[in-house]
Amino acid sequence: MTGFLEREHGNLVGRDPREITTGEWLASDLPLDVGLRAIRAKCLDCAVTARAVRPCVLTTCPLWPLRMGTKPKGFREARAQRDAARERQPQPPHLRKAQAGQEKETDR
Ligand code: SF4
Repeated sequence: MTGFLEREHGNLVGRDPREITTGEWLASDLPLDVGLRAIRAKCLDCAVTARAVRPCVLTTCPLWPLRMGTKPKGFREARAQRDAARERQPQPPHLRKAQAGQEKETDR
């Protein structure tokens, strides 16, 4: 695990995971989970037991809806509807400019 740390201005910091190689990941003892499995693992780490994850009261935690390791019924549809509603909202001019700049960057 110490191979994932580096010195930055004299301080020990985590390396950029985007620069870690396949071999380094394989040599680690990390579970290499992604998505819902990684969220579930984090919740088990946070709440300590599976029994304590389900009644978690921290509803403002970004992981809360997905803490059981599955997408809840209606979640995907609610997200799609919210995203569509946001796209229909007229943007104030300063945000329109920023958004246009982002689109240009992603066009590259
Ligand atoms: S939802 Fe957030 S606060 Fe609750 S167990 Fe998961 S990580 Fe912890």
